[in-house]
Amino acid sequence: MIRTYKFKLYKSKRLKCLHELVNLSAEIYNHCIALHKRHYKFYGKSLNLYRLQKHITRLKKLPKYAHWNNLGSQAIQSITERIDEGYKKFFRHENKRPPTFKKKRKYKSFTLKGFVGYKLNNNILTINKRNYKLWLSKKIEGKIKTLTVKRDSLGDFWVLATALVGNVKPANRATSGKSVGVDFGLKTFLTLGGRHLTLTGKEREIESPLYFLNSIGEIRKLSRALSKKKKGSNNRRKARFDLARLHRKIAFQRDDFFHKTANMLAFEYEYVFIEDLNLNGMQRLWGRKVSDISYGGFVNILSYKTNVVKIDRFYPSSKECYDCGYVYRELSLKERVWICPNCGNAHKRDNNAADNIHRVGTSTLAGGIVRPTMPANAVDSRIPCL
Ligand SMILES: [Zn+2]
Repeated sequence: MIRTYKFKLYKSKRLKCLHELVNLSAEIYNHCIALHKRHYKFYGKSLNLYRLQKHITRLKKLPKYAHWNNLGSQAIQSITERIDEGYKKFFRHENKRPPTFKKKRKYKSFTLKGFVGYKLNNNILTINKRNYKLWLSKKIEGKIKTLTVKRDSLGDFWVLATALVGNVKPANRATSGKSVGVDFGLKTFLTLGGRHLTLTGKEREIESPLYFLNSIGEIRKLSRALSKKKKGSNNRRKARFDLARLHRKIAFQRDDFFHKTANMLAFEYEYVFIEDLNLNGMQRLWGRKVSDISYGGFVNILSYKTNVVKIDRFYPSSKECYDCGYVYRELSLKERVWICPNCGNAHKRDNNAADNIHRVGTSTLAGGIVRPTMPANAVDSRIPCL
């Protein structure tokens, strides 16, 4: 299993050197994009990764490009690989646009691989013989695979280290064999399901913290202030920082909520069943709020802490009556409570869905085939049953 660690670097004047390295990455990145474009124009086909890398090796020997050597060759290699991947995805129609030029200010990071080009000794990170102190909030376990130095929109620096760790889950994880079904919603972030649960009413629900929506007034105010400032002025820079600071704060709050909620679930349940969410479809249906909530980020955190089992996303969890199996196709999104036309039982929409997810989840876990999964590409644009 791969784990990502994130540490903040202490502020210091020396960070200027890291700024320079990120800017240099942007320069190299843009140079490669230009090469790609030119190659395509002349030959009508994509520039091969190895040819590009060879070309860069030659460039680095020229006096004009000697400063490129400040950035480790690993970092340059990962830039070329990332661009290559971007083009491949574009040609496979997975991305709408090919990689494009990026402004220096908007360029964020460079990545080093393995143990080359840096040293990490406890809380001291050494790059190009300069030491940077980092806020080591956690001990890194396992071997480091990649190390990314990232600057955020406030000019602060972070180190993201990915490490290969054994298949260990945190110590406070449940081993009870207990399981739960989870239905995601908007106002209610999640509803817990499974008829074995002894939770009642509100205990089954975790409300959404719509930080973003609550802060939207403030965001609007700051964006308006930013747009009024003269371009290139110091005041504009300050206004941009104010806005970035607010965005960062909201992101931290959301992360905190995710970790607490995930810990709570992992503490109690060994298996969590969820629907394999089609986020694009959900976003089209629900609008911006879905991306504010970022279910994907939550599921990611949760799967570090406990076993997440995804069930077929086209299983009609909300529309099927838990008691008799009747599928009530006409159920609309507005109906929060419905009565089964077949058996007459009343259902709260989210509770019924979560109960169904739990039942399907347990049979998935037992090895039973619930229903054939359709090939993903054929149904990508469909909206999931909610
Ligand atoms: Zn029924």
